[in-house]
Amino acid sequence: MTATTAWSALSDALATSTPPCAGDGRFTADTNEHDPALRQLCAGCPVRQQCREYGKTAPRGRAWGYYGGVVRRVTPQARTRAREAATT
Ligand code: SF4
Repeated sequence: MTATTAWSALSDALATSTPPCAGDGRFTADTNEHDPALRQLCAGCPVRQQCREYGKTAPRGRAWGYYGGVVRRVTPQARTRAREAATT
């Protein structure tokens, strides 16, 4: 599966379901730390499989955080680039 098809599947699933992470900034915080409480929320998510697949396929440096209960880490260089992009 490519990132594009994984994103499409996740988008389709999100059209009919609201995940427990909606509006929760902890899931995309740039901490690279594992938080068991977030994994617990993912465990009951209706789009967990699609989210996990997207997390496995998305380009590194563009998507960090929790995906289907798995922490996706990025390189320090990618994090720096993302921070710089967010502030410009
Ligand atoms: S599985 Fe993905 S969409 Fe669902 S709560 Fe976890 S991070 Fe959010």
